[in-house]
Amino acid sequence: MKTIFDKIISGEIPCDEVFSDDKCLAFKDITPQAPTHILIIPRKRIPSLNQIKKEDQVLLGHLLLKAREIANSCGLESWRTVINTGEEAGQTVFHLHIHIIGGRKLNWPPG
Ligand code: 5GP
Repeated sequence: MKTIFDKIISGEIPCDEVFSDDKCLAFKDITPQAPTHILIIPRKRIPSLNQIKKEDQVLLGHLLLKAREIANSCGLESWRTVINTGEEAGQTVFHLHIHIIGGRKLNWPPG
């Protein structure tokens, strides 16, 4: 099923883009939870971590490497990545995405 992130990838819905390559797209979250809140998503349609396959191994590593580059380019030394998987865990958009959150003190444990 097409999600809002598919529409962002296709350009149907605009986004505040931070980074883009042939495998992924990163853009600012529309409802930021911290001074820096960026989402990095694969161009490939994968609903959540529950659906990843062995063949996605390289892509998943790529997303994390890009997350590090993006966080560093935003000047973040301390930052958090979040991947919500499933409704009970807070996932609202069923297209895999990594939250990159930083720019303020982050508490633990999360809610
Ligand atoms: P989830 O709750 O699924 O882990 O995260 C989905 C995130 O997508 C939320 O933080 C939400 O603010 C963000 N989001 C939802 N719709 C849009 C949109 O149209 N544009 C952008 N940039 N972010 C969105």
